[in-house]
Amino acid sequence: MTKPREMIRVEKLNKSFGDLHVLYDIDLKVNESDVVVLIGASGSGKSTLLRCLNFLEFKDDGKIVIEGEQVEAATHDLNKVRAKVGMVFQHFNLFPHKTVLGNVIEAPIQVKGMSKKEAVKEGKRLLDKVGLGDKYDIYPSRLSGGQKQRVAIARALAMQPDIMLFDEPTSALDPELVGEVLETMKELGEEGMTMVVVTHEMGFAREVGDWVVYMNEGRIVEEGQPDHIFDHPKEERTKAFLNSIL
Ligand code: ADP
Ligand code: MG
Repeated sequence: MTKPREMIRVEKLNKSFGDLHVLYDIDLKVNESDVVVLIGASGSGKSTLLRCLNFLEFKDDGKIVIEGEQVEAATHDLNKVRAKVGMVFQHFNLFPHKTVLGNVIEAPIQVKGMSKKEAVKEGKRLLDKVGLGDKYDIYPSRLSGGQKQRVAIARALAMQPDIMLFDEPTSALDPELVGEVLETMKELGEEGMTMVVVTHEMGFAREVGDWVVYMNEGRIVEEGQPDHIFDHPKEERTKAFLNSIL
């Protein structure tokens, strides 16, 4: 078997906010087409880790290697890195004064320098893909939360990222809207997108995840294939966490 391509490698990543040390010696590897699911209680550092991967926060020390290249905030064009590593947030932050299609084509035109014609063609393709082919000209206020989040996913995909990070993309949604967003993410994973997903949706983690990482108080406590983590966790803290949410 050929060796899988390594998309993200994190080594001994540490991060503090002032006196508060929130990530301790994090090591993480994500190979091409892997879906890695990060789980853990609120405050355990999951969002901070994702934000460090996307350089919305800066690590204190350690290494972040993206597609074979060690990235340092001081020396790299972070807009280029962020174009490779797309991110979807809990709150979608769509531009309210732009249409759905307007939201999706904005960054490819402004940041990537794509022609409007090309951006529109690609934007429509992506909106069709996330099931919003009839909503190009609608304003976000007219959409449900699940539809808004699918626009946010299409918007991130419009930058043609190699990796997608999701930070609790369904946590702000009414329960009946969660499924449509998870389904969109599942399809993306099945198409081979490399993904790191923070979620409390354990059904998704088990079904779609290739690897599950459990974090507690800024440390990776246990990681493994979904069956291992959910059916045979070794660590008491993992068991307690799973009992608390299931
Ligand atoms: P999670 O996503 O697992 O809930 P976070 O990464 O958001 O955890 O937070 C980890 C810790 O870092 C928490 O104690 C949180 O209060 C703190 N924290 C997160 N962001 C900031 C910030 N910008 N400034 C100060 N503290 C922060
Ligand atoms: Mg968080």
